Amino acid sequence: MASGSNPAPKFANHAESGDSPLAGPEPAVATPGPERDSKQDQAQAAGLNAGLSPRLSPELNWLFVDLNSYFASVEQEVRPELRGKPVGVVPMMADTTCCIAASYEAKAHGVRTGTIVADAKRMCPGLILVEARHEIYVDYHHRIVEAVESCLPVTAVLSIDEMACRLMGRERPLLAALELGRKVKARIRERVGPTLRSSVGLATNRYLAKIASDMEKPDGLVALTLDILPEALRLLTLRDLPGIGSRTEKRLNEKGIRTMEELLALDCEQAGQLWGSVWGERLWHWLHGQDFDMSETEHLKSISHSHVLAPEMRTPEKAWAVAHKLLHKAAMRLRAGGLWASRIGLAIGFAGPRGQKVPVSTFGVPTKGWKAELKLSECQDNQTLIAALTRLWASRPTGKDGQDGREFDQPYFIGVHLGELVPDRLHSLNLFEGTEDAQSRTKLLAVMDQLNNKYGMSTLAPATMLTAYKAAPTRIAFHSIPDLF
Ligand SMILES: [Mg+2]
Repeated sequence: MASGSNPAPKFANHAESGDSPLAGPEPAVATPGPERDSKQDQAQAAGLNAGLSPRLSPELNWLFVDLNSYFASVEQEVRPELRGKPVGVVPMMADTTCCIAASYEAKAHGVRTGTIVADAKRMCPGLILVEARHEIYVDYHHRIVEAVESCLPVTAVLSIDEMACRLMGRERPLLAALELGRKVKARIRERVGPTLRSSVGLATNRYLAKIASDMEKPDGLVALTLDILPEALRLLTLRDLPGIGSRTEKRLNEKGIRTMEELLALDCEQAGQLWGSVWGERLWHWLHGQDFDMSETEHLKSISHSHVLAPEMRTPEKAWAVAHKLLHKAAMRLRAGGLWASRIGLAIGFAGPRGQKVPVSTFGVPTKGWKAELKLSECQDNQTLIAALTRLWASRPTGKDGQDGREFDQPYFIGVHLGELVPDRLHSLNLFEGTEDAQSRTKLLAVMDQLNNKYGMSTLAPATMLTAYKAAPTRIAFHSIPDLF
C-alpha cells in the first residue's frame, strides 16, 4: 500500500531522446507485439476502447503542456544572474508571506509553492527572494501559447502555465504524438527562452494527459497509452489525481479507499456512489481512458441563493444581513467553481398585511415582488460584490406604496443571483493585470475561502453577517465541488 509517500513513477523520460522518435531511450509504452495485443484485447473487452486503433500503434487524443516552476523560470530567463541559483518568488518582501513559486534549485532544498518565507530561508541558505511581477508572467504566457500554436492549435488555456491541445488525424499515433511533444518543448525553449522548461503529457483524454504531464518533472514527456494505463495509475497516490485534495482523500479513506489500486477496482456505479455526484462517474471514465466530449464552454451559467425569512427576521435590517449571507455563499461557490460574475441580481418579496387582497406567494404569504440587476465587470471578490449588492439594496422600494397603500417594510423573501458567469480559463489572463490592491484582495479571499471550506462557512465573514448567522444555513458541501483541473 502506498502510504503518504509519493514515489516517482518509473517512466522513461522522452524529453532527452534524439530527433528521431525511434532514437533515444525506450518509450514509456509497451512495444508492439503479441503481449500488447492481448492487453488491447483485454482493454477492449473491458470497454476501454477510446483511442484504441485497429493498427498496431496506440493513439492519443490530447497533448497537455505544463511549464515547470513557471514564475521562477521566467525570473531566471529575464535575469540571467539568477540562473542556476535557488530562487523563491514571493508576493511581497516579508518573512510571514509564502513562496508562490520556487526554482528547481530551491525545490532541491524542499522549498515549494506555499512554503512560508521564514521556513524557506532556513531550509535553503542562500535563497534569493524575488518579488512577483505578474505583468511579465502574462507576457511570457502569451509567447508560450504562440510557440505551442506554431506546432498545433491550443484547444484550451487552463491556467497561466497550462494548456491542452486536442490531437487530430495524423497527430494521434503514438510516435507522431511523441514527436509533436518534443517539438512543442523545443519550440518553447527556442522561441520563448532556454530556461523555460515544460512537461508534456499525452493521453486519450485531457484529464489523463494532465496526469501524464505531472509524472516526469522537470522537462518530462510521458505518453499514457491505454495498454499501460492501469499499471501506470497504480503507481500514483490518490492525491496525485487532479481534483483530489486533502478533504476528498480523507473522505475516500473513511469509505475504505486508500490506494489507487482500491479506487481502480471500483466499477462505474460504485465510483458514482462513492462521490455521491456525477464527478465520481466522470472520474471513473477518465481513469479508464475514455474521452467523452466535455465542451470547452461547459460551465455553470449562474448561481442563485434565496431564503424565506422566519417571521422574526422580517425587518429591513435583518433581511439585509440575510442578503449579505446569501451573497457570501454565492461568492464562495463562484470562487470554488473558478468562475467570475458579470451580473448581480437582488430579489425581494414583501409581505403584505394579512387580510388584504394581494397576490399570495407559493409560500402562502401575501406578496409583492421586486427585483433589480446590475452589470459588473468580471469579478469574484467580496468587496466588489458587496458594493454592488449595497447599491441594489439602496434602490429597493421603501415606505408606502402609492398604489395599494402597503408598506415595504416587511421583506419575507430574499434572493441573490450572480449571472453571466465566466470561467477562470477565459478570465485568467486579466487576473494579473489588476492593481496590487486587487491582487492582494484575491490572495486574501483565497485564504478566507480555504479557512471557510475547512472550518465551516462563517469562520471568516463580514461583520454584517452576524445577524444572519443562523438564518440561512449552509447546504452546499463545498468539498464536493471538484476542481476541474
Ligand atoms: Mg506548472
